[in-house]
Amino acid sequence: MNARDIDPRLGDAAKAFLASKHLALIGGQWVGAKSGKVFDTFDPGTGKVIAQVAECDAADVDAAVAAARKAFESGPWPKMSGSERTKLMWKLADLMEQHADELAQLESLNCGKPLAQMRMGELMFCIEVLRYTAGWATKLNGETIQISTPGNFHAFTLREPIGVVGQIIPWNSPLMMAAWKLAPALATGCTVVLKPAEQTPLTALRLGQLIQEAGFPDGVVNILPGFGPTAGAAIAAHPGVDKVAFTGSGEVGRLILQAASGNLKKVSLELGGKSPVIVFPDADLSLAVPGAARAIFGNSGQVCAAGSRLYAHAKVFDRMVEGIAGEAGKIRVGHGLEAGTQMGPLVSKEQLERVSGYLDQGRRDGVNVVTGGNRIGTEGYFMAPTVLTNTRQEMSVMREEIFGPVLCATRFDDEDLERIAREANNTIYGLAGSVWTRDLGTAHKMARRIRAGTVGVNMHGSLDPAVPFGGFKQSGWGREKGREALELYTEVKTVVMSLG
Ligand code: ADP
Ligand code: MG
Repeated sequence: MNARDIDPRLGDAAKAFLASKHLALIGGQWVGAKSGKVFDTFDPGTGKVIAQVAECDAADVDAAVAAARKAFESGPWPKMSGSERTKLMWKLADLMEQHADELAQLESLNCGKPLAQMRMGELMFCIEVLRYTAGWATKLNGETIQISTPGNFHAFTLREPIGVVGQIIPWNSPLMMAAWKLAPALATGCTVVLKPAEQTPLTALRLGQLIQEAGFPDGVVNILPGFGPTAGAAIAAHPGVDKVAFTGSGEVGRLILQAASGNLKKVSLELGGKSPVIVFPDADLSLAVPGAARAIFGNSGQVCAAGSRLYAHAKVFDRMVEGIAGEAGKIRVGHGLEAGTQMGPLVSKEQLERVSGYLDQGRRDGVNVVTGGNRIGTEGYFMAPTVLTNTRQEMSVMREEIFGPVLCATRFDDEDLERIAREANNTIYGLAGSVWTRDLGTAHKMARRIRAGTVGVNMHGSLDPAVPFGGFKQSGWGREKGREALELYTEVKTVVMSLG
């Protein structure tokens, strides 16, 4: 890039990174795609190109898988103790902390997130997920097993790394998705081929440099920027990959499954959601209103666990809807790097078109637009925070994941928790949900009835690294974060000894 095209709001380190070459990391070397191709990456706040990035495809995936295999089987990595892996992960976390401003700026520029939210929120969480998960590297224990077969035996289990892991991540929280995926793979001693989303490759590449600086052996983490149907599909289908971990759309999740069937690689999937926010008449609305607004407008609604369906009791429905619309009106929408911005653009033109398409269909279906409903301005991909009422179950806005700042509000006047839960559960998804009430019994009963991987009570969603995250139903397979994440990256080996 020409230096004068680089956003002046960036610090020197981010400017220098943008001005450098953006290559793939394979076996400890930064290399261009074998094809020589590059692709443009954009600033969604302006729609302008900010960098060109190596466009990897199947040939580069072959090289990366070979490097990951070599690192898994020989060299220093498989000989390292858990404590040595912990130390490397902490070193990486420290480096991320040292470079926090730069990482936050690059992320904000490439995916549109408000800088302050990225710097103080997600980035700190990326660091914490590495530190938390690093602690498990020394706790990968099996058990001793009692044997009832006649004779004299000693049986025990070992937890061993699954091998070479392919990780394919989305654009909505690029660095956080990279950290969630890498942390358990590194803690367990796997090696990785990571593909960031084509919309947002930059922070993963900067992270690759920090991984090298931290001292991870060559080939332990390989990073391939590229497109889904080429690089992504090659990772999912590769016979040398033992497991693929994917976060993204259900549509691609299905393709990953098919591709993985060739060598029956293990698969974990974190897919979409259409998560309910259920507000009871006794709820503290001073919490529920801003909580529900954050649940749908945070990250411009581009959150798989976003609270996109509001169910509010008739006694509080109008106050909830007016309150959330009021919050929406106060949100400062702007470029991620602009001081004071509270909500950034959608990630791309495609995403803007997708969200606009849902709103057009909603209008044709007869929804009432309480607030928002339109693109803001003509430069960049900004969408106004939107609240819809008169939504019915059969409409696409109610059934499908919009992945934008669009809330569908529904009134209920039922007192029967079973029926309320049935309505909240009336979705193919089951990623998250929240219940807003002061009644402990209602809270516990609803928490049990909601068919979703995460239920919040008087809050929606938690980023804490210790809590498992994942989906029921079509929201996915497996749980990331917490101890559960280690299960996705390890095999259990049974050893039985005859003592004679
Ligand atoms: P979206 O449509 O919102 O961009 P996707 O599910 O298509 O979400 O993308 C999530 C990730 O999956 C990205 O890294 C993308 O490159 C990758 N991807 C897309 N298509 C495929 C595919 N056919 N095989 C493997 N990965 C894919
Ligand atoms: Mg797609």
